[in-house]
Amino acid sequence: MQAFLANDSLRLQIFIMSANQFVHKAMDILVSAAIRGDLDPRRANAYIKEILHIILFYGQINRPKVDPEEILQESNHQLSARYSDVFEMSCTHIPKRPPFTVLLNAIVDIVRTRHEDYVLPCLLSTINDMEVPNGNTICRNIFVSTVINLCYFSDQCMRSRTPNYFGASVSCRGARQRKIMIDILCYHTWHRDISWAVCVANQYNENAIEFPPRVRSMAFNIYTNGQRTQANQRVDNSLARFRGRRVPRFLEIASQFGSLVPRAPCERCFEMFPNIQFYPFPQAHEHAHWEYGNCAECESLSQLLKSHEQIVTRLHRNQFQIGRDDLINAKNRRLEQNLQQLEFRFRGVVPFEGNQL
Ligand SMILES: [Zn+2]
Repeated sequence: MQAFLANDSLRLQIFIMSANQFVHKAMDILVSAAIRGDLDPRRANAYIKEILHIILFYGQINRPKVDPEEILQESNHQLSARYSDVFEMSCTHIPKRPPFTVLLNAIVDIVRTRHEDYVLPCLLSTINDMEVPNGNTICRNIFVSTVINLCYFSDQCMRSRTPNYFGASVSCRGARQRKIMIDILCYHTWHRDISWAVCVANQYNENAIEFPPRVRSMAFNIYTNGQRTQANQRVDNSLARFRGRRVPRFLEIASQFGSLVPRAPCERCFEMFPNIQFYPFPQAHEHAHWEYGNCAECESLSQLLKSHEQIVTRLHRNQFQIGRDDLINAKNRRLEQNLQQLEFRFRGVVPFEGNQL
């Protein structure tokens, strides 16, 4: 019992420290980008509000519940005075996406390009020291995703390729809380075809959609500072296999940036999106103990579809007994039930979104 209580209180401390660090770190990078003139101050403010809201919302659905004052530990109430609307909404409104996805999105906005050579180093330098004490050791900030990916579509006929779209795995603590976030993404955020793919995979273990050929996706595990040597070793081992041959791009990226290690898609994503060209290609299927929709691939593919109608028109959709809207609505029912179970007074979806300005 004693050990259990000690574990619980450690878990709570890690939650509070991670939440506090994430908010302040995100604010630092957004405020300095606005001061440098790299980001419109109104957009910077909207991203700050969005991230602050999600973290405070996570506190509300955490068990035990964590109030904003505990998360922010501010004696002068500066943030609560400045963002009183955000504080109020954290008790009644749900966010649209996890905090790391917003941060990733803000970074793409700040560097003003979708090229991996600019986005990835900026992201990695931001999260470089986002670690918190865990007893006698340190661990990753729980809101920093473990996997990121990028996808793009190259159209052979038009001899062009789309820019990159980035995604991150869902970063969230707790099984019910994770379900809440996946259901929010499915019902409120993702492109309908991606939500549909997730629902069909859950229900039938089959794929709902097929992308046109030449949609490519590469994913990476993000290693923390403390795991850097291990990351370098893994990348060096993979590089050794290509001695004398052309090194594939995903491996070049990993060796360039240090804390990224290429990662094949899990069996669930491979099943949901069967004709995507994944890099690296899975040698053996990693057993997925997570729910469909947890992975980085869904977010980036959703962005790709939202930005390129010509890909949406070329999707092939399979037929199933239960209709698309019924399955997606069932996700919303589960979402509302889970919110109710956690005694969250659900009134709506938050109105601010950094990239919507
Ligand atoms: Zn996956």
